[in-house]
Amino acid sequence: MSPELAARIRQNLAEVRGRIAEAARRSGRRADEIALVAVTKYVGEPAIRALVEAGCRVLGESRPQQLWERAGQLADLPVEWHLVGHLQRNKVRRTVPVIHWLDSADSLALIAEVDRRAAELGRPIPTLLEVNISGEAAKHGFEPAALGPCLDALAQFRHVEIRGLMGMASLEGGLDAARRDFAALRQLRDRLRANCPDAIRLDELSMGMSGDFEVAIEEGATVVRVGSALFEGVTP
Ligand SMILES: *Cc1c(COP(=O)(O)O)cnc(C)c1O
Repeated sequence: MSPELAARIRQNLAEVRGRIAEAARRSGRRADEIALVAVTKYVGEPAIRALVEAGCRVLGESRPQQLWERAGQLADLPVEWHLVGHLQRNKVRRTVPVIHWLDSADSLALIAEVDRRAAELGRPIPTLLEVNISGEAAKHGFEPAALGPCLDALAQFRHVEIRGLMGMASLEGGLDAARRDFAALRQLRDRLRANCPDAIRLDELSMGMSGDFEVAIEEGATVVRVGSALFEGVTP
């Protein structure tokens, strides 16, 4: 790994962490209340190794196949993998063994499949429910109104631990629109949490990416998923 790459990534990580801390401070929260998932989809193995060496241990990929590949290449490193993108049911068998969190569960049928696989492995999978907050047809996720009626069914799964919600802001409308989407997700979470079965916890809110993570933190994010800002100046 080149010293330039290592230095660049250390600096990017320090900047992102500084911005997280500053956004937390502005909203009266502690920086350590906000977890960073580093989305590695844009870069190759050397840059990911540099990031881990710089102290970032929680990594995310949005495509299952790429996650399998990366998890294999980096099996010697002490990292925790999150899948942050759509998981097809026929990829559950290979994906569950390599992930620590599923951040993007978008249907009951998928969660049932993940539960069966996690039961075979004897390892519970902490999971976030993806919500289509922006209402864009191209986005995956539960419709906001569909989630309440699903909670009792979700509480039956023994090996999928529901821990919170995940959402992405609309691509259009800039930061004001993003802020409205994030606030809506937080309010949905608060409403659902108020009368939720005991087996389900909705404490985590994964929202915010490179372009909008500070706004997301101001609106209550507990997890931000950041890719490009960590790899600025790094050629893939
Ligand atoms: C790519 C991706 C991210 C990170 O995006 P950046 O804008 O590069 O920070 C976060 N979440 C999901 C679901 C993604 O696919």
